[in-house]
Amino acid sequence: MTHLPTDPADFASQAIDGFVQAHPRHVRRVDGGVVRLAPIPAGQVGVVTGGGSGHYPAFAGLVGRGLAAGAVCGNIFASPSAGQVYRVGSAVERGGGLLLAFGNYAGDMLHFSLGAERLRHQGIDVRIVAVTDDMASAPADQPELRRGIAGGLVVYKIAGAAAEAGLDLDAVERLARKANGRTRSLGVAFSGCTLPGASEPLFTVPQQRMAIGMGLHGEPGLSEGPIVPAQELAALLVDRLLAERPAEVPQSQQRVVVLLNGLGNFKYEELFALFGAVAAELDAAGVVMADCECGELVTSLDMAGVSLSVCWLDGELELLWMAAADSPAYRRGVFERHPEAPAGAVPAEELTVPGAPAATPRPVTAGSGTADQQALLERMRAVERELIQRQEELGGLDAVAGDGDHGLGMVRGIQGALSSAANTLAGGGSTAALLIEAGEAWSDQGGGTSGALWGGALMAAGQQIASADTLDGDSIAAAVAAALQAVMALGKAVPGDKTMVDALQPFSDRLGAGVQAGESLEQALHQAAAASFEAALATAQLLPRLGRARPHGERSLGHPDPGAMSLAYSLMAATRSGDPAVSSSPPPLP
Ligand code: ADP
Ligand code: MG
Repeated sequence: MTHLPTDPADFASQAIDGFVQAHPRHVRRVDGGVVRLAPIPAGQVGVVTGGGSGHYPAFAGLVGRGLAAGAVCGNIFASPSAGQVYRVGSAVERGGGLLLAFGNYAGDMLHFSLGAERLRHQGIDVRIVAVTDDMASAPADQPELRRGIAGGLVVYKIAGAAAEAGLDLDAVERLARKANGRTRSLGVAFSGCTLPGASEPLFTVPQQRMAIGMGLHGEPGLSEGPIVPAQELAALLVDRLLAERPAEVPQSQQRVVVLLNGLGNFKYEELFALFGAVAAELDAAGVVMADCECGELVTSLDMAGVSLSVCWLDGELELLWMAAADSPAYRRGVFERHPEAPAGAVPAEELTVPGAPAATPRPVTAGSGTADQQALLERMRAVERELIQRQEELGGLDAVAGDGDHGLGMVRGIQGALSSAANTLAGGGSTAALLIEAGEAWSDQGGGTSGALWGGALMAAGQQIASADTLDGDSIAAAVAAALQAVMALGKAVPGDKTMVDALQPFSDRLGAGVQAGESLEQALHQAAAASFEAALATAQLLPRLGRARPHGERSLGHPDPGAMSLAYSLMAATRSGDPAVSSSPPPLP
């Protein structure tokens, strides 16, 4: 929660700017995030971490020698965009390749993968390691579905130390994977967090209860119980962690790194009290604490919660964990002062080094573009108005089993797309270029899983239009079909998984059928949007099989999928203009 009046829209970037000013010995601002003040030596592997903001010291706080070379910083609780990943990666890379290491969340996975693709096009060798330490988020036999929480520190630290030691990209990747495979975490939460500028918490935990396994963004816990004294909580966490000793760890290996992490509003004295009980439990189990950290390592704004992580060491992991590091939030051992570091504070304007810069907006002249293009822009403006009006409703739907950011992400996405579209028209661009560039902007500014998917959808539609001779019913239906294919290829969802695909497929099918049957384009669009809306509502009866909502599927029964609803609302708004029969938008969902 914030105490000063705050504009949520640029709170995260203000915080990052200020963070950079507060740590002038360590970091510089780049477009998309932060990098080390002094570049990594030529030929060294660059470890790049990142994710949504709101988790300090993850991720920007871990940028420094012996740790990450850069961090890609998204908005509060929203994954950074592929463009940001690309720009930070470009700013970091010095010939040794890049390891992108981040928590395993669908949005982060999509954007980091797309960013990696763009970096590879520049000839850079890029590897990805997604951290999957959270035992609560999926069963042990499906580690690829587990999300990353505080145990990520071990992975970033070991990868960073390996890179600092001059190991090559293969070795750094192997060690990061090994550290991840040997790290497990489990957390409990006592109360939710409040987004900047909001007055109500994003989620709550009933008084005197604790949610076991609640996620960093308030993804609901797997079970809930009464709060218990420190000894009992320590026993609960240690028992479950030790019960899942990774198969590859031989019984003879008993040395671990222990992290006890406060999530924001579980403060130091209480952490220490709990740590004592944890140490006693580990000792009783015959586990040797080779090293430990007790403090705030990955937070969730002001959430009251605590997590325990254990990484099972072997010789090489222990050496790398113990190696020196010097970042704003994590230091150990001694590095000599880097010769390139300036002695005093650096003026703000010098804290920005150029990565590959984002496009600068061109001024928009009224009336530019063809009539068709102006009409398309008008439809996008209608979508913007609709999404602003629906922002809270969509956020509420996403909070049922996800992280509550969907309304905000959609508004940011359409606004980015709109200003890019206006720019394209002002520059005399084609309709195809308009869609492609709007898609890039949506992905860049919308963030989250849905941002990447909407961005991909618009880009695919634009590419399809580019290959058509004329803009008519057939080519528009083909563009929508291409958008559907792109969403399914990127997100791997199929109809019935309770995602936006469930609303997009009926739109595409009905539009194609209407055009085939000789309906007017407007008529076919209206009918298709109505079919999409009906299908979106019907997702209430489905169980999610993908994305953030999956671990808590049963909670979402009875509630429609937020991404399906936002898509249907957008399509209704885009196709509504000029038809009095459908001129009012549906009432908000209860
Ligand atoms: P995040 O889950 O990263 O916070 P948003 O909240 O913006 O992203 O969007 C959530 C929506 O994204 C879901 O309601 C769903 O419709 C859609 N979604 C999530 N994962 C997928 C996927 N793999 N394929 C298609 N759509 C998805
Ligand atoms: Mg979300």
